Amino acid sequence: AQSETSMPRARTALTIAGSDSGGGAGIQADLKTFSARGVFGTSAITAITAQNTQGVQAVSVVSPAMITAQIGSVLGDIPPDAIKIGMLADVPVIDAVADALADYRGPLVLDPVMVAKSGDALLAATARESLRTRLLPLAALLTPNLPEAACLLGTGEAASVEEAERQGRALLRLGPRAVLMKGGHGSGPDCVDLLVTSETSLRFTAPRIETPHTHGTGCTLSSAIAAELALGHDLVAAIGRAHDWLHHAIRAGAGLGIGRGHGPVHH
Ligand code: PLP
Repeated sequence: AQSETSMPRARTALTIAGSDSGGGAGIQADLKTFSARGVFGTSAITAITAQNTQGVQAVSVVSPAMITAQIGSVLGDIPPDAIKIGMLADVPVIDAVADALADYRGPLVLDPVMVAKSGDALLAATARESLRTRLLPLAALLTPNLPEAACLLGTGEAASVEEAERQGRALLRLGPRAVLMKGGHGSGPDCVDLLVTSETSLRFTAPRIETPHTHGTGCTLSSAIAAELALGHDLVAAIGRAHDWLHHAIRAGAGLGIGRGHGPVHH
């Protein structure tokens, strides 16, 4: 038998997130993205949503014990080179995930999913404090959109890039090593995503695409960043590569013709 160390191994990434039956967001978006970026994807499902491009019709949260078991199964046999966390639903799920990752030391991208673009809640309002105290400190990168950043800080939504930078710095003080303030919910001809770390701030700018087909963009970006980190790119390179790829994926989404509501991007 070959020794383990001599065997070449594919890079792997784990997504801990909710299932979107419509295939555009959540676990489905994450696994498609991992594949598209050349990374072997594994998953721990936190919640099952009955969902399509028009909205979320039902949610069933997976038991914390089953979430713990899924993460344990993956970590024990298929060590991830990066982890992405998405929908967490409620406090017991957050506690289960935080406990299960206590010994994990690799890169962790945390997408603080709260409300779907359809307006449906994906995180209990009572869970925001747990998200802040238990998971933000574990994150190498936190990827809030402007409403999520405002919600985590208990403040109004940033109306300028300067204000987004101030909010990013405030979020940094809650423990993540870096914050990517996503500008997709802003206005203006360009969409500016702003990376804030203790040393620097850096803008990733792309022309804003006017399209209704943006379902799953947040999930897709955070999993693309996790994939690039799993491949060994540093944080700035990983965000740059993921950002460029998402821009093309949103443009290509218009051609899919999937669903009658907010269609998905092309993974
Ligand atoms: N459904 C699930 C399971 C998700 O994890 C997410 C992630 O944000 C969404 C839906 C939201 O998708 P969107 O807001 O892009 O429609």
